[in-house]
Amino acid sequence: MLDVQKIRADFPILFREVYGHPLVYLDNGATTQKPRAVVDAMMDEYLNVNANVHRGVHYLSQQATDLHEQARETVRRFINARSTAEVIFTRGTTESINLVASSFGQAFLHDDDEVILTEMEHHSNIVPWQLLQARTRIIIKVCPITDEGRLDMEVLPTLFSDKTRLLSCTYVSNVLGTVNPVRDIIQLAHQHNVPVLIDAAQAAPHLPIDVQELDCDFLAFSGHKIYGPTGIGVLYGKEQILEQMPPYMGGGEMIGKVSFQHTTFNNLPYKFEAGTPDYVATTGLARALDYVGAIGFSAIQQHEQELTQYAREQLSQIPGMRLFPPSDDAVISFLVGNIHHLDLGTLLDRLGIAVRTGHHCAEPLMHRLGIEGTVRASFALYNTCEEVDKLIAAINRIRQMF
Ligand code: PLP
Repeated sequence: MLDVQKIRADFPILFREVYGHPLVYLDNGATTQKPRAVVDAMMDEYLNVNANVHRGVHYLSQQATDLHEQARETVRRFINARSTAEVIFTRGTTESINLVASSFGQAFLHDDDEVILTEMEHHSNIVPWQLLQARTRIIIKVCPITDEGRLDMEVLPTLFSDKTRLLSCTYVSNVLGTVNPVRDIIQLAHQHNVPVLIDAAQAAPHLPIDVQELDCDFLAFSGHKIYGPTGIGVLYGKEQILEQMPPYMGGGEMIGKVSFQHTTFNNLPYKFEAGTPDYVATTGLARALDYVGAIGFSAIQQHEQELTQYAREQLSQIPGMRLFPPSDDAVISFLVGNIHHLDLGTLLDRLGIAVRTGHHCAEPLMHRLGIEGTVRASFALYNTCEEVDKLIAAINRIRQMF
């Protein structure tokens, strides 16, 4: 069992007030709060270790490089990659997917080749493919969702052809909280010799991830959604595929030898890490993963699922409530009567409750649902049933105003 009060004590921001109300932070799908251990580790590195990595012979540079590479090993262990060569640091999920679209696209996607996406993707797993489409005439096929908010697994197999080169889909929907059957999807794609990219932005904070067991070819996640710093994320890729992909950006760090006639590139993962990396953020990310690892995903999942179920039950009793299923995990989207989502979100804020409103960077999904946006409550390991009760009471109070 999770000792939530002990955990909350690690997150100073949870004790502040907003408009005279104790903060109820239910916007964890957008970004999570940071435990003191993460901020302390980063502050310590800036104040006591700071030097550029990989390029200095001096003591501080060596120490900063050690911390940076230890962080890579921490990420490797966290996702059970075979080697640190498969762990590329990026600015986040968005950059990870853009890297694959650009570099894998250049190597493997030619005119008339096909990429399969799904109707529930975040814009960051749609637009990079459209940008590629502007350079190469690839075809984007889209797996629809059912009325229950799940991928239509009857349609998905029919989307493969001998032109399919990649399937890219989210593990957990940031709007519907759907946990997609990614193992089945990966197996199906592999039967067609199609590699798979998993967007794990909303999965990594809530579910254990084992890339070898999943057998995914790429996987992306963001540090800031898993209690780590902003501006750092991860792209995992299978070594044999990454080896065949050209660099994404050029600059320092990613080269072997440079001359005006000919330049060679560095080994993995550095080939994809041009320029000075955010080595302080990698330390923070490693601390965040250690923090989550010390609590353990079985306790986290049990707590968050109880919380999600409780919230679903309580919300469903509010007159006029429209829930957008299935909310398998930590994310609940809803609308109440004909109150505009923006009004509801703004009024909740005045009562100290932070939720997200709008299209959640998933406009195609909004079109499918026939709406403009929702209110989204998304949970983290430090949220409590009392906070859900405050959300319910606040919605009821606002409902009476309308
Ligand atoms: N994918 C999903 C499913 C997300 O929910 C998000 C962010 O909300 C992203 C990708 C983009 O993540 P980031 O902005 O950290 O790059």
